[in-house]
Amino acid sequence: MPTTAIDHKKLLINNEWRDAAGGRTMDVINPATEEVIATVGAAGQEDVDAAVTAARAAFEGPWGKMSARERGRLLSKLADRVMERADELAALETRHNGKPIFEARQIEIPAAAECLEYYAGWADKVMGETIPVKGNYLTYTLREPLGVIGAIVPWNFPLLLASWKVGPALATGNTVILKPAPETPLTALALGEIAIEVGLPPGVLNVLTGPGADVGQALVAHPGIDKIAFTGGTNTGKAIMRSAADTLKRITLELGGKSPNIVLADADLDAALRGATSGIFYGKGEVCAAGSRLLVDRSIKDQFMEKVAARAKKMVAGDPMDPKTRYGSLVSKRQLEIVERYVAVAKQEGATLVAGGGRADIGTGKGFFFQPTVFDHVTPEMTIAREEIFGPVLAAIEFGDVDEAIARANQSPYGLAAAVWTRDIKKAHYVARKLQAGTVWINTYNIFDTAAPFGGYKASGFGREMGAHALEHYTQVKSVWVDLNL
Ligand code: NAD
Repeated sequence: MPTTAIDHKKLLINNEWRDAAGGRTMDVINPATEEVIATVGAAGQEDVDAAVTAARAAFEGPWGKMSARERGRLLSKLADRVMERADELAALETRHNGKPIFEARQIEIPAAAECLEYYAGWADKVMGETIPVKGNYLTYTLREPLGVIGAIVPWNFPLLLASWKVGPALATGNTVILKPAPETPLTALALGEIAIEVGLPPGVLNVLTGPGADVGQALVAHPGIDKIAFTGGTNTGKAIMRSAADTLKRITLELGGKSPNIVLADADLDAALRGATSGIFYGKGEVCAAGSRLLVDRSIKDQFMEKVAARAKKMVAGDPMDPKTRYGSLVSKRQLEIVERYVAVAKQEGATLVAGGGRADIGTGKGFFFQPTVFDHVTPEMTIAREEIFGPVLAAIEFGDVDEAIARANQSPYGLAAAVWTRDIKKAHYVARKLQAGTVWINTYNIFDTAAPFGGYKASGFGREMGAHALEHYTQVKSVWVDLNL
């Protein structure tokens, strides 16, 4: 494979590209080739201070003074420009994440642009209310921005998850310091470039790359940041919550999941089969809402699992840059090793491996590829039934009736998403109500829309992203009382 030129990227603070104050850099690796494709700045406390100063000045200055409609217009331009540069952004996303270019170009980048466009439309539609209080007063509310938002995102959908935060934050008049994951900083930096191109004032969108423990933690602890919008692992979320307590910072947390995908015996089994496999293998299983627990009615389980295994075996890893590839490389060596450890534990604990289970090779001898993997005869107590793997590993568990399916589905600390497959409309809605999850899909899986809220129950976090609900998490309400007694 040809060696590509290494890009040297800087931090974006106040619309200026700067080296990290400490002079440190980090390598960005293409997980499909194991080559270093870029270096980025490793920001530290000094850079966080500078970004906060810039973001605060923008909030109190040009951005705060701009009309809501004008803000919306700029956000709309940002969305348009993301689409104009979609080919290049998709290539960056694929190169640092390992996802197929098909997914990056056809799904993720358009969804990111759509999210920015959606919130552009909201900018001049966020309103207060007049309240009918007792006494002779005019009482109304103002819905005001929070101030400076620290947006911390993971590596699985880098630009999309950044847009879920940047969109509502900017639409409501906040300014943002975006911190991408160390593995996937390139599209966040490109978004910063685009922000300058379309004329966002200095300080409105700043991008700090670097390790979570340094720059992430410094953002969370900083007294000049009003809110942290975080997507990532549950343990990191807990650490952020503890640390944010010191400055009483607002936080929203979108965390991990172990989402159940329930197949009842009366389902359209061909559709359920497609949903069971795409539910876990889309995005190589590195999807927070991945349907990693497949709960199947005992009466159909053996025959259904044969088909699941056959379908998994047909999914072959390929070069992520090839437009025909539908299954790419895991994001990093670390992630590959995590997946391998879980597979070994599953075997030790007595689960039956029916597909995959090992590394995949696309003929280059390089890359962090792992086969789509299916375990049958998993019991709810086993490690792979309980812990989030964040990889292409499906754990199949059987149940006897609908209530047992619900009980098993809810037998998890997580509650991000869930699905049920059935032709019975009553059962479908009965199950949907009982499932402890922020999103429930009926006869489908992994469907998202920027207008529909997404977020967790239980240990999957709190707050909602997307839709009108997200706006509440980027604003605060002020009651204003006017004495009208003459
Ligand atoms: P992670 O928690 O390790 O990292 C996420 C981000 O937090 C990164 O930018 C990282 O640098 C930063 N970070 C790490 N430690 C930090 C600290 N102490 N303070 C501040 N920031 C810190 O998660 P990951 O491995 O990048 O992503 C995988 C996890 O994200 C999975 O658990 C997955 O389920 C979750 N996820 C959830 C959603 C959702 O919407 N609920 C979406 C995608 C991913």
